[in-house]
Amino acid sequence: VPGRAALSDSLAAIVGAEHVRTDVDRLYLEEAIGNEQGSADAIVFPATADEVATVVAHCYENGVAIVPRGGGTGLAGGAVPHGGVLVSLERLTRIRAFDPLLWRIHVEAGVPTHEIRRIVRESGLYFPPDPGAAEQSQIGGNLATNAGGPHALKYGVTGRWVTGLEAVIAPGTLVTLGGATRKDVAGYDLSSLLIGSEGTLGIITAAWLRLIPAPEVSFPIAAFYRDAEAGCAAIEGVFGNGIEAAALEYFDQGTFAITRASFPGSAPDDAFVIVAEADGAVDEAARIRGELIDVLGESAIALQEPEADALWRWREGIAHAVAGRLGAKLAEDVAVPVDALARAIELTVEIGARHGLQAVSWGHGGDGNLHSNFLFDPATDGRARAAEAAAELLTEIVGLGGTISGEHGIGSLKLPYLGLQLAPPVMGAMRAIKDALDPKGLLNPGKVI
Ligand SMILES: Cc1cc2nc3c(=O)[nH]c(=O)nc-3n(C[C@H](O)[C@H](O)[C@H](O)COP(=O)(O)OP(=O)(O)OC[C@H]3O[C@@H](n4cnc5c(N)ncnc54)[C@H](O)[C@@H]3O)c2cc1C
Repeated sequence: VPGRAALSDSLAAIVGAEHVRTDVDRLYLEEAIGNEQGSADAIVFPATADEVATVVAHCYENGVAIVPRGGGTGLAGGAVPHGGVLVSLERLTRIRAFDPLLWRIHVEAGVPTHEIRRIVRESGLYFPPDPGAAEQSQIGGNLATNAGGPHALKYGVTGRWVTGLEAVIAPGTLVTLGGATRKDVAGYDLSSLLIGSEGTLGIITAAWLRLIPAPEVSFPIAAFYRDAEAGCAAIEGVFGNGIEAAALEYFDQGTFAITRASFPGSAPDDAFVIVAEADGAVDEAARIRGELIDVLGESAIALQEPEADALWRWREGIAHAVAGRLGAKLAEDVAVPVDALARAIELTVEIGARHGLQAVSWGHGGDGNLHSNFLFDPATDGRARAAEAAAELLTEIVGLGGTISGEHGIGSLKLPYLGLQLAPPVMGAMRAIKDALDPKGLLNPGKVI
């Protein structure tokens, strides 16, 4: 392994000295919410896919670990390096082609998520994936985590919108998988393997994305319930009545108590809240809105139709408001079959109480996806107790037929728990894939598997 000075000289020869940093900036060594602090021998900022390939080839040949980084908004420790070279994709920001009349766009990995949504919207089109930190996250990071978001209920997660990928795979080769073609079943589906692989099988440098005409209108509805059981029954009622909601978010009583003051509208005390949205062409969205009001309203103690922007802004602020309650929180991202959602919400609170912690959850209710949070004061031993509570929760969730990660990924933080969910032969198959595609184990080591 080369020394730091030799390494940075070699990297400078590839990307230019001004695009290599060894005065390693703390911001690049942790994630947005400051989960974990890492270390790196160098941070490199390539400008093109070819430069990414040359950087990977150099590192691979010299036994240096390579950690890709998008917007750093991940919540699983995936982009935090522990030595080696951090490869930031932030300069790969070209829109290579935008064909509005063919409903497709070809973008580089570093384009911020919100930028893609904005550009296509100007042409009346829609890129549905809407993960929470879209101002800061990048499409490459969204693909590497196969990010979800509120509207994944109707439109699916990010990977569903991909027709092709360009990526650098070991030992530093730039490859194209698929492209602008809308169908492609030639050979193994390596794109799907790279999507959600959190940088452990290659670095995504560009993607071809499918688009659809933008919904003409959307109508959000907020419904308030006495408890999780009533609220989750209402979610099941939406499915049972054949209503295709665009989003079905929930906020448990603890979450709503913390964030009620900024809710855009009047709201009852101590409520379990569901935020639903109807979208589509004007007539269709109006029909769905009416059906949602009927079904959600049946057992609700109150129902409102807040202004959409204000409501979604409130929604985006939830994680920060909850973190601010005691100063710190440990966040899990579990998912269960939707008929086990009420139990999982109760379990979160019960397990927190067993460890002397306030626990709350909110999330993508229609997808059975909970963001379970254990709150603590960082000046106490709360973090250790929160970690014990989280481990207990993951075990219980798997027992409910659920998953230890619905959308944030495994990264390094959930690595110890993957075996709770996956049987040894499944882990073995995944390990074989990793070994085949990364024989030296240098692509984001210590993550996922
Ligand atoms: C307030 C908040 C709300 C959030 N809401 C949601 C939500 O609703 N839904 C959701 O799914 N997530 C959500 N997240 C989590 C996070 O935003 C997503 O996981 C997002 O997709 C990460 O993108 P990023 O560009 O920030 O990636 P990073 O955090 O930089 O990286 C994430 C992982 O992908 C790898 N990676 C990054 N870029 C590449 C690349 N080009 N090629 C290969 N590997 C790469 C990294 O090594 C790392 O393992 C939220 C996060 C925050 C802070």
